[in-house]
Amino acid sequence: MEFPESILQERGLWNHIDFDMCMYGCDYKKSTRLMVVQRYGNEPVLAGLGLSCDGSHDHVSLSGWGDKSKPKRPTKGTAAYPEALARDWANFAKIYLQKYALQ
Ligand SMILES: [Zn+2]
Repeated sequence: MEFPESILQERGLWNHIDFDMCMYGCDYKKSTRLMVVQRYGNEPVLAGLGLSCDGSHDHVSLSGWGDKSKPKRPTKGTAAYPEALARDWANFAKIYLQKYALQ
């Protein structure tokens, strides 16, 4: 079964949120886009997660691997979402559900 992206987009039921992992405590930037289905209200679901790098810090590079300076793949261990992101995600979801879905 095909995911109904076009239907959701046509009806304004989905949105995307962009954020950088460095704003959630990671030493790398790893810009990430999250697609979100929006069912209630006009507020984008989880919009508060959309934190872009504020430029106040340096980033560890995730490119290159296999040489003496980077014997392991630099992206190893970056697949999991950081705890701070998971915590904020849960808090925004809770607020949204309390406001729209659990009335
Ligand atoms: Zn940053």
